[in-house]
Amino acid sequence: MSVKEHEPPKKPLIYYGIMAFLTLMLLNVFVFPLLFENQVSEVGYNDFLSMVDKGMVQEVARDESAGSITFSTKDEAGKLRIYQTGIWPDDTLLKRLEDAGVKFASEIPTQASPLLTILISWVLPVLIFSFIGKLIMKRMTSAGNMGNAMSFGKANAKIYVEAQTGKTFADVAGEDEAKESLQEIVDFLHEPAKYAAIGAKLPKGALLVGPPGTGKTLLAKAVAGEAKVPFFSISGSEFVEMFVGMGAAKVRDLFKQANEKAPCIVFIDEIDTIGKKRDGGVGSNDEREQTLNQLLTEMDGFDPQKGVVILAATNRPDTLDKALLRPGRFDRRIPVELPDLNGRIAILKVHAKDVKMSGNIDFDAIARATSGASGAELANIINEAALRAVRLGRDSVIQADLEESVEVVIAGYQRKGAVISPEEKKIVAYHEIGHALVAAKQTDSAPVHKITIVPRTSGALGYTMQVEEDERFLMSREEAFNKLATLTGGRVAEDVAFNSITTGASNDIEQATKLARAMITRYGMSDDFGMVALETVNNQYLGGDTSLACSAETAAKIDKEVVAMIAEAYQKAKRIISENRPVMDKLAAYLLEKETITGEEFMEILNEEEQK
Ligand code: ADP
Ligand code: MG
Ligand code: ZN
Repeated sequence: MSVKEHEPPKKPLIYYGIMAFLTLMLLNVFVFPLLFENQVSEVGYNDFLSMVDKGMVQEVARDESAGSITFSTKDEAGKLRIYQTGIWPDDTLLKRLEDAGVKFASEIPTQASPLLTILISWVLPVLIFSFIGKLIMKRMTSAGNMGNAMSFGKANAKIYVEAQTGKTFADVAGEDEAKESLQEIVDFLHEPAKYAAIGAKLPKGALLVGPPGTGKTLLAKAVAGEAKVPFFSISGSEFVEMFVGMGAAKVRDLFKQANEKAPCIVFIDEIDTIGKKRDGGVGSNDEREQTLNQLLTEMDGFDPQKGVVILAATNRPDTLDKALLRPGRFDRRIPVELPDLNGRIAILKVHAKDVKMSGNIDFDAIARATSGASGAELANIINEAALRAVRLGRDSVIQADLEESVEVVIAGYQRKGAVISPEEKKIVAYHEIGHALVAAKQTDSAPVHKITIVPRTSGALGYTMQVEEDERFLMSREEAFNKLATLTGGRVAEDVAFNSITTGASNDIEQATKLARAMITRYGMSDDFGMVALETVNNQYLGGDTSLACSAETAAKIDKEVVAMIAEAYQKAKRIISENRPVMDKLAAYLLEKETITGEEFMEILNEEEQK
């Protein structure tokens, strides 16, 4: 749902063009003909004579040089008309005209006066166009900005109050620390006197930082719902305009409105689009810098006692300009992290409220299977489950729907139509059992939850799901190394069972390399380097790409160590699998037959075999 309602109607330039054109057309069709009405019609000489005899002719003029007679008549309705006819040798004409009482004129004007013609056909359109031009200018200047190339609109900050966002803190599950921080701001806006009495100043701005989908925007909307004060919301990208200076004008406009409405909240979503570090280097963006400068000035300019609180959200705090973060601006930083186990359970429950659920749903199990998922992903899982229930013709969501939708969100939909040859299926089965077996035979590794060889739309031909028994925050060196061994287990199983290897391990290889590198360069888990940071993380919340912070020789050494570490893990996995060859065959055959097996089934077969 979008809260950006009440967009002021922006009329593009073309609209005015069409208006002007239509006006001119209308004038042409209806007005000009009236003004030019005394147009001349040609008639025959005999018609002229008969009109004279009938007494219709009023005035007549003879133009020798043009060889024509012009005369005017009045019909019964009293309407004046002008005719022209040629000159004929006719001696009786004079007498006839006298008899009919026609007035002799020196000239009958056949046209509207030339001055009027010029006025109408040239001056009037110019007047019309300049009037429309003025109208456009007025719209532009009254908005306090120039608009962008095709539209001349007001700044897009609008007032959103409680009723419009419709969200409260009850809609945000988990994130208790963030809510507590924001609650204080809400309180302040309700009762500024309480804070003033003790001399406490509230932060001017609070910055919500965290990975995408963790509920930053949702929290801001909830603040609006709770605060019951005007709430101005704008997205950072809306400041970035085509022409230099417009973004700054919008910022000015926004703060002007906010000051008038104080106490109130201003929310700037995705502030990193304007708040990037000003480096002035190549590719620097004048417009963005001006906008940022204006924002900084405005934030300094207003009185904290007045009760304007600025909230902003970003998932790239590291790129923000330091000037934004200094005290007196966004001095309060509210982390909105990925939810922990309890947070996930709470989020699932909040979203389950909107969906018909069958009585006995184990949210705990779903939450445990989704470690690392964001609030948005969890909301999606609930929705996918509801869709599946409808697809299968049920009237409420059951546990199986949720479990399947976890996999849909992790790995995509099942590819029912995919045709995979029996040989390939067999390879995939051994590969997955390889992972599971290595995991199960090591201590300190998460229990196997599910193994499947049903292909998914993400391209995975199968996968092994491991679920931790309880939430983990730390990983020991042994656990990390065991994880490496588990990751190599798939490839090892192919190697041992078929004596050949496939491309199926590419994802495992990528993950293993990443983990091994991180162990050496960031976690200080290698004997050679110890506790030295050899890499820095750039984008903590978005993918977490890293850049090396060491000499070329060290980089070469790191590469060598990564290779050695993974080779060691591979050997460990190979030992485990070779020792358990018979049970691997049995498990692979079972998986091949069932396509999907649970962790319990897997462990049962494994333990049976061990007892023999
Ligand atoms: P962000 O702005 O951090 O990227 P959003 O606030 O847009 O994320 O969250 C997207 C959606 O995810 C929300 O609309 C909501 O449905 C769901 N969501 C995220 N976090 C939570 C939460 N803590 N509680 C409930 N729903 C959440
Ligand atoms: Mg957001
Ligand atoms: Zn694998």
